[in-house]
Amino acid sequence: MLKQLQLQVSPATANNEILLKEEVALHLGFNPNISFTIKILKRSIDARNRNIKINLTLVAAINELIPQEDFHFNYTNVLDAKRSCHIIGAGPAGLFAALRCLELGIKPIIIERGKDIKARRRDLAAINKEHVVNPESNYCFGEGGAGTYSDGKLYTRSNKRGDIDKILKTLVYHGANEDIRVDAHPHIGTNKLPQLIEKIRETILYFGGELRFNTKLIDFTISKDKVRSILISELGVEQELPIESLILASGHSARDIYELLYKKNILIEAKPFAIGVRAEHPQELIDRIQYHCGSVEAVSEVRSYLPAASYSLVNQVKGHGVYSFCMCPGGIIAPCATQQQEIVTNGWSPSKRNNPYANSGIVVGLELSDYEPFKHFGALAGLEFQKQLEQKAWQMGGKTQSAPAQRLLDFVNGKVSSDLPSCSYQPGLKSVDMQQVLGKLVGPALKEGFKLFGAKMRGYLTNDAVIVGVESRTSTPVRIPRDKETLTHPQLTNLFPCGEGAGYAGGIVSAAMDGERCANACNAMLSK
Ligand SMILES: Cc1cc2nc3c(=O)[nH]c(=O)nc-3n(C[C@H](O)[C@H](O)[C@H](O)COP(=O)(O)OP(=O)(O)OC[C@H]3O[C@@H](n4cnc5c(N)ncnc54)[C@H](O)[C@@H]3O)c2cc1C
Repeated sequence: MLKQLQLQVSPATANNEILLKEEVALHLGFNPNISFTIKILKRSIDARNRNIKINLTLVAAINELIPQEDFHFNYTNVLDAKRSCHIIGAGPAGLFAALRCLELGIKPIIIERGKDIKARRRDLAAINKEHVVNPESNYCFGEGGAGTYSDGKLYTRSNKRGDIDKILKTLVYHGANEDIRVDAHPHIGTNKLPQLIEKIRETILYFGGELRFNTKLIDFTISKDKVRSILISELGVEQELPIESLILASGHSARDIYELLYKKNILIEAKPFAIGVRAEHPQELIDRIQYHCGSVEAVSEVRSYLPAASYSLVNQVKGHGVYSFCMCPGGIIAPCATQQQEIVTNGWSPSKRNNPYANSGIVVGLELSDYEPFKHFGALAGLEFQKQLEQKAWQMGGKTQSAPAQRLLDFVNGKVSSDLPSCSYQPGLKSVDMQQVLGKLVGPALKEGFKLFGAKMRGYLTNDAVIVGVESRTSTPVRIPRDKETLTHPQLTNLFPCGEGAGYAGGIVSAAMDGERCANACNAMLSK
């Protein structure tokens, strides 16, 4: 007999199978001596009140086994497939487009400007230790895209855009822990993502797909509403490849791609985006606030059952949304520039989220009218505004990968910090007036936003926290338009703008789902 049930239990009970089974038996009216097994299907934490609860959906089985799910994907051998699809970018969008192509019998050929995972790691170390940014291999470019050295948070609100569970199952199939299908806010962790991406690569190659690293799309030819060939550069050696179809999944940092499209009069549009800073607090402080603890001992007690606490904050300030973005409990602030003369922040966490810091992007949503002086750049207006802020951060940070920073309360009070707290950002910090980096609109909106956050989370607005800037790549400032049905570009009937860089995703899961959708659309086009 199988019985599904929902329970609300204490964190201590949720962490102890014997106690949990006692609760289940009580709830289902089982004889305490009866033998049964349980499996947790869904788990979420309700920490709104002092009395923290864990919500569980479980299945209990008496005298039978709980059926194991068999993950089966219909990958086919496409080595000699007649149909092919060139995919630009090996980020989540490009990789999941390729996996879907394998299911559809299309040969995926991925072109990736960056290096494979292992080689890429050395370039990340060079940013942290030597302040050297390789423009082709960094936190945004390389195998796995921006998603590889990320937090690996898998929560998405885009549940109407595709089959989230299929994406999660694919990740589990390639090595992720099954818990990602159980937790309400799943995450993988930077230490586990690289192996998983390597396994996805192995699947693509095993079934006859191709993946070329160190190879960059630099141009393409067009005739009769179609892209006919792409010009690629492999470590400086150029080659022209004829193509049938092209999925463009080059991510939000491929500025040269936007510039190429603009130069070739291929329609692109400026779109709203957000700019701000990374705020970093001691994790213990965030735990204390979120888990309602009065003392260090209480935090340590609670943390023996619960993960590092996170938060999500949003407020309106004079018509602008100010909100937290990509909050990384127990994480690290990462240097995510793609050029030498700019500073870009983002954040990641290891799977255990056990670093002593909690960081989050805190950004201000901007409309096109907010960067009016950049209007003459046309569709590239937001991109130029974004560039200018990142370069200003580089100048004020001391023209290395050290980032400009200020204690949080000092920022709100307009006082340059005399010193800075210890921080996870490895290239180092320079104390500056962050208002000067952020400018007249973003700076004041952030100050107001932080005050409102301080009222919501008592203790948040403190000089024990530091803000580091700039957090400028939360989303793309450019959209590459596409037809709602065919997903093709309005001028080019075999070009599929895809993923975050084209403006159709914001995160790993939504980018992966968009990759699948574009592969489906490509299949429909090739089948005509
Ligand atoms: C540090 C960090 C932490 C993050 N944390 C999270 C998180 O926890 N959860 C989450 O959901 N999201 C997170 N994100 C965002 C997430 O990584 C992106 O939303 C996602 O990777 C977008 O996928 P994509 O495939 O559309 O683009 P990308 O991942 O940006 O991939 C684009 C790829 O295209 C390649 N490329 C670019 N130009 C060319 C060219 N001309 N020729 C060939 N190849 C090219 C790039 O090298 C890159 O590999 C994080 C991002 C960063 C940087």
